[in-house]
Amino acid sequence: MQRFENRVVLITGGASGIGRATAHRVAAEGGVAVVADVADARAAEVVAEITGAGGRADAVHLDVTSEQEWQAAVATTVERHGALHVLVNNAGIGDLLPIEDTTLAGYQKVVDVTSTSVFLGQKSASAALRATGNGAVVNVSSMFGIVGGFGGGPGYAAAKGAVRTLTKNTALGWATAGVRVNSVHPGFIETPILGETDRTLLSSTTPMERLGRPEEVAAVIAFLASDDASFVTGAEFVVDGGYVAR
Ligand code: NAD
Repeated sequence: MQRFENRVVLITGGASGIGRATAHRVAAEGGVAVVADVADARAAEVVAEITGAGGRADAVHLDVTSEQEWQAAVATTVERHGALHVLVNNAGIGDLLPIEDTTLAGYQKVVDVTSTSVFLGQKSASAALRATGNGAVVNVSSMFGIVGGFGGGPGYAAAKGAVRTLTKNTALGWATAGVRVNSVHPGFIETPILGETDRTLLSSTTPMERLGRPEEVAAVIAFLASDDASFVTGAEFVVDGGYVAR
């Protein structure tokens, strides 16, 4: 099924992990995947992978903390591809330290990249998404936007919690504007963001006793971004092997 035929999908953090898997999924289903990232070389690699496999993809440089770069990325996308139908706010960074060891600057950096970025993205893309008459936003939060995790990483917890409720708030604001807005809450997914974290610990705290694959999150993002989810807005979907159900 070609759910993204004639659809243009901008994916932040599209150069790696969940964003990369989402770009591949969108292109495999007929869409144009616009890979928006600060990592230009890796973004170009993802575009080459997709076009090499016969799909359509493009890269735009985007630091999601910059309003100016957001406006430029949306304008470039519309200019090159004619429209912007779907925005996937996926870029994010984590922190691990306890609150006592977290500096204000460190906290603010995580909030800027992980949650203020979603505000900027939705604001910058609003007119383009509305103009399609059938737009969608998928915001990638985390299961740690719902529950407290291991008790460290206050910036990440605050940012991901904000993404969860900002999603619902925007969904209601745009409910009759032809733009659906939903959030996805991954559990532990095998991507570079996990760094050296002990995989055995992560698996052992997950009911399904394994880590997720980026493709398993991309599948849910693609569902929410597609017309299969045409009556779904303001919803949150955990993709966490059962973690939050406990
Ligand atoms: P990743 O590190 O593989 O990918 C993150 C991407 O974001 C990278 O390509 C990076 O260059 C990009 N990025 C970082 N800062 C940016 C900026 N300022 N502007 C634009 N791009 C920027 O990690 P991932 O696991 O694929 O993470 C994707 C999203 O999923 C994040 O929001 C993350 O918090 C969330 N998430 C991941 C997990 C997990 O276990 N992997 C769990 C829950 C939520």
